[in-house]
Amino acid sequence: MKFMKKDATLSESRDTVFRDLVLKSPGCEKIPTCMQCGICAGSCPVSHEMDYTPRQLVRMIQLGMKQEVLNSNTIWLCTTCFSCSVRCPRGIHPTELMEALKPIAIAEGIDNKNSRFDQVFSEVVRKNGRASEFLLISKYSLREPGMIKQAPFGLSLLSKGKLPLSVDKMENTPELEAIFNPVKPEAKPEEKHAAGNAGKTADKEGEREE
Ligand code: SF4
Ligand code: SF4
Repeated sequence: MKFMKKDATLSESRDTVFRDLVLKSPGCEKIPTCMQCGICAGSCPVSHEMDYTPRQLVRMIQLGMKQEVLNSNTIWLCTTCFSCSVRCPRGIHPTELMEALKPIAIAEGIDNKNSRFDQVFSEVVRKNGRASEFLLISKYSLREPGMIKQAPFGLSLLSKGKLPLSVDKMENTPELEAIFNPVKPEAKPEEKHAAGNAGKTADKEGEREE
């Protein structure tokens, strides 16, 4: 059966707040300059599996198609290979766009098999420093009911020693936290001053209430 792309021209929602939020994300500032040349889509190794190609997704951001964008599988299937970003003649970074959309989708409660796999993958890597196949499959199976169909295949891999049960854990996992929780930049002196004043004002208001 031929794979049918969804029609990106039919918008159910035009959300300018969403669009402006995305355009403020790092790497997304030039999205309004997209000329729809399609080089990103032609360069993408997984666009044939995506609901919308990177080119379509960029256009949908311009149109503020929040629901269609956040519910697409495109943002989860991106492999962050950067082919689109290095080739875009307008200096747009669809790779960064995908990364900007993931936390927005999760914050909006998007829950599908692709977002679940992404979260399981992050959890396993965060805890162990490596992507254990056994942990990935077992944890994902608990969250994705459809994986039960893959049970015979998993058992076959286990019986042939192709799915090691041991977890090859990284030695210094606390260092991973620096990746997942980057240190916030030191506040500028004037920002510290403003924060201090805000704290004093709050204290005074608290005293008045007492
Ligand atoms: S390569 Fe750049 S300009 Fe061309 S469609 Fe993709 S994002 Fe738009
Ligand atoms: S970074 Fe993502 S969207 Fe861009 S070409 Fe690679 S897989 Fe496709």
